[in-house]
Amino acid sequence: MSLQVFGLPVSRGVAIGRAVLVASSRVDVAHYFVEDWQVPAEIDRLRAARRVVHDELSALKAGEASDAPAEIAALLDVHLMLLHDEALAAATRHWVEARHYNAEWAVSAQLEVLARQFDEMEDEYLRDRKADIEQLAERLLRALAGQESGVFPLVPPVGASADHPLVLVASDISPADMLHFKGSVFSGFVTDVGGRNSHTAIVARSLDIPAVVGAREASRLIGQDDWVIIDADQGVVIVDPSPILLDEYRFRQREAQLERDRLQKLRFKPAVTLDGERVELLANIELPGDCEAALAAGAEGVGLFRSEFLFMNREGQLPDEDEQYEAYAQVVRTMAGRPVTIRTVDVGADKPLDRMSVSELRHEHTLNPALGLRAIRWSLADPGMFAVQLRAILRAAALGPVNLLFPMLSRSSEIQATLQAVRRARQSLEDEGIDAGAVRLGAMIEIPAAALILPAFLHAFDFVSIGTNDLIQYTLAIDRADESVAHLYDPWHPAVLALVASVIRQAQAASKGVSVCGEMAGDPAFTELLLAFGLRSFSMHPSQLPTIKQRVLRSDTLRCALRGEGVTADADPRSKWEGRVTP
Ligand code: PEP
Ligand code: MG
Repeated sequence: MSLQVFGLPVSRGVAIGRAVLVASSRVDVAHYFVEDWQVPAEIDRLRAARRVVHDELSALKAGEASDAPAEIAALLDVHLMLLHDEALAAATRHWVEARHYNAEWAVSAQLEVLARQFDEMEDEYLRDRKADIEQLAERLLRALAGQESGVFPLVPPVGASADHPLVLVASDISPADMLHFKGSVFSGFVTDVGGRNSHTAIVARSLDIPAVVGAREASRLIGQDDWVIIDADQGVVIVDPSPILLDEYRFRQREAQLERDRLQKLRFKPAVTLDGERVELLANIELPGDCEAALAAGAEGVGLFRSEFLFMNREGQLPDEDEQYEAYAQVVRTMAGRPVTIRTVDVGADKPLDRMSVSELRHEHTLNPALGLRAIRWSLADPGMFAVQLRAILRAAALGPVNLLFPMLSRSSEIQATLQAVRRARQSLEDEGIDAGAVRLGAMIEIPAAALILPAFLHAFDFVSIGTNDLIQYTLAIDRADESVAHLYDPWHPAVLALVASVIRQAQAASKGVSVCGEMAGDPAFTELLLAFGLRSFSMHPSQLPTIKQRVLRSDTLRCALRGEGVTADADPRSKWEGRVTP
């Protein structure tokens, strides 16, 4: 019997594969396939790791535990017994032999199976033994990490994922962890928590793999190695599908691929509307390597480089000026004369620097992290760190056109402090005789207060970029990462649309640049409405760009403007807009 689990759709398409259940704390365990001939060596690695852990535990028992309380010695005995449990060893070997998982992956896959069995035990004492299994797995993983992984690459052999399609199932994945999945073996993923526009979801969208978040019970209901279909158009996960369903979804997968190939042909076509209006389509990127995808999709530049991803997964060791410079320079060089908009670091809220998931954040951090020390507030609170980033960006600007964008500004004093920091950074470079390029300065408009005092921003900056993801969150007081209020996170809310329309109108009246770089820009449901508001610059994930270009090519801005008249004043703008046919 197949089972359906419902969640929130994040990106388009269908993924079909076997489920790999991963605990959020173990996402950075290397996942790759080994070839047939590598299987014996991988089993040897497992054996060697077991020997290392055996020696460790025995030494502990003989040493510290000899005069420690009896419970400790008993615990070490339990760990030794588990280590030598033939069923555990055989199950781990099974993942390597039958599925060709690497040793680390095999250990964590088996850990997930056991953890679940322990969770379901009635007896509290036995249930608590799950912690022992986890500690033992931790030791094994450490022992494996200490070994040479021989000739094996840390990326899957080409073609392996097509033969063994896999989808990732986790309770929660942090944005930092999502980065590990760029170019990984997974062809889709499902999480229990998260909203459609949480940063985890945004990174998933940028990977262009089918994903469903906020599926609540998914990681409990889906078993390790189960076959699943992820229908990311509908936000449904089907577990153990029937052959008929599988055929139907495989057909849909092929259709989607054909459509993608068709759209790809628009790559070199300029985005001009039917009435001759030129529209700029830019890419949102997270890492310099994303520029390839941006260019392949036909992006005219980078409209948002979320630089904070350079700062993640570094255990507190932030990138220094030269390292940052290299990353920005790589983007500027790869984009070869096209404009590159670099946003200064925007950490905090659901984007912690290290591998902390949303649920961990909720429990361990400030009560309202989205309202706390994040983005520009974080930068201004640490002038030394901010100066390092500004110097690196100004240096990269000597190599090509760079726009410098600041997140989450909300008041004049922050604007002044920010501009002063830029002046100081430039001055310090000049004093040292280091080249700094000219930059256009811009502000994200993503807090309602900023939209409401827009003239102050237009006076101080060359351009503004509307961050609809946060603008919706803060206008409606809906946590973008919280699946329990995801139904209220509404881009069609008249207050949101009125703010977006008003920012575009005012910026144009002041002859300042304006673009939208939130998810709304990559959502085809909003393309014509944004054109109706007068928008001519959209920034989105490269994967969304061909679809939006097709929309633009089929639109007539004058007709859109007529259709959009009065829409934001309506209590239900969506029905009004969709009910009216373009004249
Ligand atoms: C936004 O808020 O719309 C935006 C583009 O920034 P981020 O999603 O990184 O917060
Ligand atoms: Mg934002």
